[in-house]
Amino acid sequence: MLQEVVSAQLPVGEKLAIQKNRIAGANPEARRIAVVTGTHGDELEGQYVAWKLARLLEKKRDRLHGTVDIYPALNPLGISTIYRGLPGFDLDMNRIFPGSSTETMYEYIAQGIVQDIAGADLCIDIHASNIFLREIPQIRINEKNAQELLPLAHFLNMDFVWVHGAATVLESTLAYSLNDIGTPTLVVEMGVGMRITESYGNQLIYGIFAAMNHLGMLDEPYIPVAPPIVSTDGHVGFVNAAESGIFLPRVSHVERVEKGQTIGIISNPFTGEISEKLLSPISGMVFTLREYPLVNEGSLIARVLGGAAS
Ligand SMILES: [Zn+2]
Repeated sequence: MLQEVVSAQLPVGEKLAIQKNRIAGANPEARRIAVVTGTHGDELEGQYVAWKLARLLEKKRDRLHGTVDIYPALNPLGISTIYRGLPGFDLDMNRIFPGSSTETMYEYIAQGIVQDIAGADLCIDIHASNIFLREIPQIRINEKNAQELLPLAHFLNMDFVWVHGAATVLESTLAYSLNDIGTPTLVVEMGVGMRITESYGNQLIYGIFAAMNHLGMLDEPYIPVAPPIVSTDGHVGFVNAAESGIFLPRVSHVERVEKGQTIGIISNPFTGEISEKLLSPISGMVFTLREYPLVNEGSLIARVLGGAAS
């Protein structure tokens, strides 16, 4: 059932409305999970998950306990125009949470979203990478909430869990705001911007069902998921471009590389020369790889997780 979460009047006639699809089973009040996406309008991986999850849950409704709320577009104007931020405001929506009722329209919307999700047993906030980088299916959690969130993260069937240091925690994100008020929220990051990777989406949906099973929301036998690699098991090495040019990868995404191995080259179409050979700083697995060929000095090319099992 489609429900309006929060809305605001736009200047001339139109209305900005955030909606969700509520799928309720037996004892709808007993448990609730929220699957949210579309904060960044150029990230579409979550659109597939929202669609497929809704379809599969309709088929499982007689085995469902509690409520699943699916929010496909927290930033509907952004999604509709494939614009990362909030159109007209040049602002990243994931920097205005937990919102406010007395500031701008978007802060009012943000507050309404937080209030609607608050109290859920689990919130899954699905992001894709940007258009520049391809990411393996992963969960990002901050150190501050790691103890509480890591056990939940294990259910989601993602390949990798990246525990961020407290210093990199952004307090104005939806996930931070929800975790701060005691609503466990996991941030999923996968694929690439403006694209859909169905296999990653299916992998996550499998994990969402495993998490629901764990929470007692699905009357189905539990099928175990493979445990993710956790970043605290190793450490992350970064590869950045020192030269501008056109990047050509020489390894595949998710490939295991050795220290000193060529990750890719920066080519110079004017001269036919190789401007730079980009070498892996450590041995490990390439979990982030640049998708977008054009690079400037300093551009992120790859992240390698060292110390992890191959
Ligand atoms: Zn995002």
